Amino acid sequence: MLRLNEVKLPLNHTEDELPAAILARLGIAADALLGYTVFKRSYDARKKTAIVLIYSLDVDVKDEAALLKRLHHDTHLMPSPDTSYKFVAHGEQLAGHDQNPRPVVIGTGPCGLFAALILAQMGLRPIILERGKQVRERTVDTFGFWRKRELNPESNVQFGEGGAGTFSDGKLYSQIKDPKHYGRKVLTEFVKAGAPEEIIYVSKPHIGTFRLVKMVEQMRANIEQMGGEYRFENKVVDIEIEQGPDGGQVRGLTLESGEKIVTNHVVLAVGHSARDTFEMLHQRGVYIEAKPFSIGFRVEHPQSLIDTCRFGPNAGHPILGAADYKLVHHASNGRAVYSFCMCPGGTVVAAASEPGRVVTNGMSQYSRNERNANSAIVVNISPEVDYPGHPLAGIEFQRRLEEKAFELGGGTYNAPGQLMGDFVAGRASTEFGSVVPSYKPGVHLTDLATILPEFAVTALREAFPAFDKQVKGYFKHDAVLTGLETRTSSPIRIKRRDDTLQSLNTRGLFPAGEGAGYAGGILSAGVDGIKVAEAVALSMAADQQPK
Ligand code: FAD
Repeated sequence: MLRLNEVKLPLNHTEDELPAAILARLGIAADALLGYTVFKRSYDARKKTAIVLIYSLDVDVKDEAALLKRLHHDTHLMPSPDTSYKFVAHGEQLAGHDQNPRPVVIGTGPCGLFAALILAQMGLRPIILERGKQVRERTVDTFGFWRKRELNPESNVQFGEGGAGTFSDGKLYSQIKDPKHYGRKVLTEFVKAGAPEEIIYVSKPHIGTFRLVKMVEQMRANIEQMGGEYRFENKVVDIEIEQGPDGGQVRGLTLESGEKIVTNHVVLAVGHSARDTFEMLHQRGVYIEAKPFSIGFRVEHPQSLIDTCRFGPNAGHPILGAADYKLVHHASNGRAVYSFCMCPGGTVVAAASEPGRVVTNGMSQYSRNERNANSAIVVNISPEVDYPGHPLAGIEFQRRLEEKAFELGGGTYNAPGQLMGDFVAGRASTEFGSVVPSYKPGVHLTDLATILPEFAVTALREAFPAFDKQVKGYFKHDAVLTGLETRTSSPIRIKRRDDTLQSLNTRGLFPAGEGAGYAGGILSAGVDGIKVAEAVALSMAADQQPK
């Protein structure tokens, strides 16, 4: 099989034009092309009136060697790389692993889910502990919060089966380096669990929230069939670490019920909102350091404005879907302002997990056909400058902002909001314009400048007009800002060793995913889950070697 990159065709090309383009590029007759599949499809929309689709293809041809020799100068033609997943260990290699206590995965977000799946596929029968509920029950609680303002601190947008990304846009792309093609394994498993096949080949795949719910359930069924054991509403509240001359070794976990679980291998995939768990780990001496993250607002514009700006007369084309954007502005006070987690045709959601605090985020359905485009617009902050002195200081910083947002919203879980024009002009808003905000339970118009630090307000006031140069119409007086975005990534890193992926000072503890500071987003969290599951298997195999 050969990989042929950079095959370009107009947006509206017919089905026949693709094989014809392959034949022309390779200079072969039709009967020499035995078959082809699309590996990736992206688009170039820089020229809105002539948008181009760009294909990477796997082509099966007669006499590959001769073709490669003839086209040796073509840097876009090469043997297709092997992207299939290879297990680092198998049940039979780990025969006798029953003498070892079972590995435990804490958390069922994408990181824990993939760690559990790989461990189960290797025959290692993981126990999977989740503080929240099964995804269907969790959905009822989460929608209950949005509709009735009743927050369940253990069952919400952040906590429960599927993790933080379950009620999301389901964007499945990432900029991580992935030499072992783990991202492909994640996407392939998602397709097996019910995701649309196109996620394998489109350049910016997304699945939307409802499909995610079904996929998470299907993956649970598969993991259980392979010997994995799920335990919901089982919050881990303590960890037993045996101290020795060369550091600690995990020996077990305690659940909120008081039950103790004996284990030597723990995948810690608790996400960025498990603040109580971070505090417990810090108290037990697990090495944690503060890390940078970002704060800001969710911004809503009409989706049609973004579509027209990006795609011109091709706005609404089914292959292009609802348009997204990516923006950066380097403010004169040294801060970077950037768009984050952009959700085309979606809604802004209430993403708090603690009572008396307000946090925003965004989600969409697969169709992305809601009226508004939303995105976080955030400012970078760092422990050295903004929350120095303690590894968990970033959490307190987040909490203070989230409390202020709750108060400014009226103390009812409404989000405080403001029109973009008023925010930049420095006056409170009193009336919505043409953009109707989607956040539930509601938006209370006010002056958002009062809850963010001065440097963030200054940088954001500079950024919105500057963004208008990148997306024409972006600086729209009645675009709606809602606040606050505080959970853009984890405020801490639970540092691990590069070689074994175990905590710097606690063997058997594998910090993983977004909460530990090793992923940002569904795909990268899934990839990290795979890496860590492999590290667990290798560690279990090493434990069995005669000493
Ligand atoms: P999480 O998904 O946060 O999972 C952690 C799990 O651990 C949770 O289920 C939690 O209940 C459980 N847990 C925590 N503490 C304990 C404990 N002590 N005991 C037992 N269980 C515990 N990313 C994208 O790539 N694309 C998107 O479109 C996207 N949209 C998003 C929309 C929203 C509304 C949100 C909130 C996030 C979105 N993200 C998106 C980010 C993405 O969801 C996260 O990056 C990803 O879920 C991180 O995965 P994780 O497995 O590391 O942690």
